[in-house]
Amino acid sequence: DQVANQIAAGEVVERPASVVKELLENSLDADASRIRIDVEGGGRKLIRITDNGCGMVKDDALLAFERHATSKLRTSDDLLSITTLGFRGEALPSIASVSRLKLETRATGVATGTMVEIAGGSIIHFEDAGVPPGTVIEVRDLFFNTPARRKFLRSEQTELAQIAAMVTHYALANPTKHFELHSASHALLTAPGARNTAERLFQIFGADTAALMIPVAAEMDFAHAGLPELPPWKRPLDYEAPAPGHLRVTGFISKPELQKLNRNSIYLFVNHRLIRDRLVLHAFTEAYRNIIPPTSFPVVLLFLDMPPEEVDVNVHPAKTEVRFRQPTFVHDFIRDTVRAALTSARP
Ligand code: ADP
Ligand code: MG
Repeated sequence: DQVANQIAAGEVVERPASVVKELLENSLDADASRIRIDVEGGGRKLIRITDNGCGMVKDDALLAFERHATSKLRTSDDLLSITTLGFRGEALPSIASVSRLKLETRATGVATGTMVEIAGGSIIHFEDAGVPPGTVIEVRDLFFNTPARRKFLRSEQTELAQIAAMVTHYALANPTKHFELHSASHALLTAPGARNTAERLFQIFGADTAALMIPVAAEMDFAHAGLPELPPWKRPLDYEAPAPGHLRVTGFISKPELQKLNRNSIYLFVNHRLIRDRLVLHAFTEAYRNIIPPTSFPVVLLFLDMPPEEVDVNVHPAKTEVRFRQPTFVHDFIRDTVRAALTSARP
């Protein structure tokens, strides 16, 4: 089944940053409160992620490398109401098929841990190990056995920048968790658990940028799509899940003074899942039209929360693409909410 794994790897594992994404999501799904990432050579030589999550018992540690052996999806109905980030059970077997991978894990409340070593998809070691609770996954020599794929990797600096962006994304989306990123023992990012998103924004972007960000919070009933005369009602930040059937938009957008030359500072999440979406980006272009030049981009940290049936996250294994059931409603609500926040923040 190595061929199937390598084919799947082509979809899931494009570059070191996609490995980091999958491993980060697993640590978050495991309910870790501390996550540390170490990389060498822009992630091509080494990616190591250490978490204090629930860990795996011995049998599960092996099962994790079987394709579609996710522990997270129980029935096909679950596909519509996914609350974990992972659900395909493809990431670990895919990554293991194109690298030398070492897993050390110990489940909460279990005395002994487990160590598994895999090279190019074949298990070479599997034994009990005295390790702390939680999970460490080390991925070395990415694409060592698929030279054609290795050739497509960019410079060490470019790959490292992508990894840093990925970690930043997840740190922003999970403000209460501790994140660390080190490259060849040089600390690139340190974000101790914060109280809320505003504090995390400050930690990550610094005081100057944080001072130029405006909070956004609005919520609307999907059933009222097409009735724009209903004003969205505003709520404070960092509150719990939106009301049933509602679209909620929360986060921070930049004042006109803060402009970027590219979209790299636009951080978007749907139901806490990282996304890249042209429709949502277009909503920003419209909201900022005539406010900043068309060649500039805002800084945005935006969380869209909605009922699972309103969004299909199952479009592509890399899972950054989504399809909204009511795209126009989502687009227009974001545009109007951002516009309103910009207008009200004007002196
Ligand atoms: P998925 O996340 O889609 O379930 P993965 O291939 O990413 O599939 O992971 C396979 C399984 O391995 C997960 O379902 C989970 O049970 C286990 N697992 C992976 N990483 C961790 C981790 N850091 N802590 C605990 N369990 C993990
Ligand atoms: Mg996963």
